[in-house]
Amino acid sequence: MGAAAETIDPGVVLALLADLVRINSVNPFLVLGAPGEAEIARFVAQRMERQGLDVRTPDVAPGRPNVIARWRGTGGGRTLILNAHMDTVGVAGMTIPPFEPRIENGSLYGRGSADTKAALAAMISAIEAVQRAGITLRGDVVLAAVADEEYSSLGSEHLARTEKADGCIVGEDTQLNRMVAHQGFAWYEIQTIGRAAHGMHPEQGIDAIAAMGKVLVELDRLDREVLSKNVHPLAGRCVFHNGTIAGGVEPGIYPASCALQIEIGCNPGETMAVRRAEIDAILARLAAEDPQFQSRVITHIERAPFEGDPHAEIVRTLGACVEDITGQESRIVGENAWMDAALIQSAGIPTVVFGPRGGGFHGAVEWVETDQVVASARILADTVARFCA
Ligand SMILES: [Zn+2]
Repeated sequence: MGAAAETIDPGVVLALLADLVRINSVNPFLVLGAPGEAEIARFVAQRMERQGLDVRTPDVAPGRPNVIARWRGTGGGRTLILNAHMDTVGVAGMTIPPFEPRIENGSLYGRGSADTKAALAAMISAIEAVQRAGITLRGDVVLAAVADEEYSSLGSEHLARTEKADGCIVGEDTQLNRMVAHQGFAWYEIQTIGRAAHGMHPEQGIDAIAAMGKVLVELDRLDREVLSKNVHPLAGRCVFHNGTIAGGVEPGIYPASCALQIEIGCNPGETMAVRRAEIDAILARLAAEDPQFQSRVITHIERAPFEGDPHAEIVRTLGACVEDITGQESRIVGENAWMDAALIQSAGIPTVVFGPRGGGFHGAVEWVETDQVVASARILADTVARFCA
């Protein structure tokens, strides 16, 4: 264990995590009227200012700040960004008190404990530890506590536009492994267009729901024949599922429209344009078979996949520190789920995802393992000390 990691006090790290969980930071784009990041950002900013960091809190949407806290090095070293999101999903359906953190059987419970306040607490603790150890760094360390990861990643988008660095660690649950790949994804809305008519006038009506039935059959075929065989060694099988469907007004009327929302992924090495072309081809084929078939596609969100370099300096330094502290190997892994890493990597900053093991993400009971939170803080402290030396 390095000198920085040695100064980590588990009680202080977990008390900080509990403080973060106690602050409701539910994303207001997900839950109307939710408080968002303003209060938790104030808390993080004050804590980093007390440590002498240069703190800015740019709004990425009205009342939705990022916290960008920079500890300036003496010059000539590598700059590292530690990125974790401050917002959480909602608390509806939770069966534990969401904002009253409690530790039981080696885990800390509460909304956001794992996703991703544990990583944020570990990152803040790591910076404090390097300072406490009296280590001087040549490079800068930047804590980037970002807004809106759970909805449209406005925070990391802003970060990627405005900051430069030689490496970035994005805090999410990787069980202390190093994640260098995840899928891209899109939310598309497919609309079929019919014609409303009295149910007794079939010569006038066009049934948009029946048309959507054909789309559903073809999407299912696409999934079975193409997407299920599109498997990335780290990011897994290409994601596809239906999300919502709505159409028609009443039983006695031909439905004039039907709308289907889907979630669909693309693997590292692909772009969402490839998926979109597959969907467009299906719709074109259906139109060629049936002159009455009409459709359109609306893109609600489209995100590129993430593919980092497993041999990048930050990935290797982090791996060495994990092994040093835990005595265990930190594997190179991937995920199907989208994370902010894609945005930062695509801005040219070598990026890796790393964080402690938790569970119940977005679920009724969310928790994070306290041992892994403390280990994360130690690992990050030594990583900062080595990478920015
Ligand atoms: Zn999440």
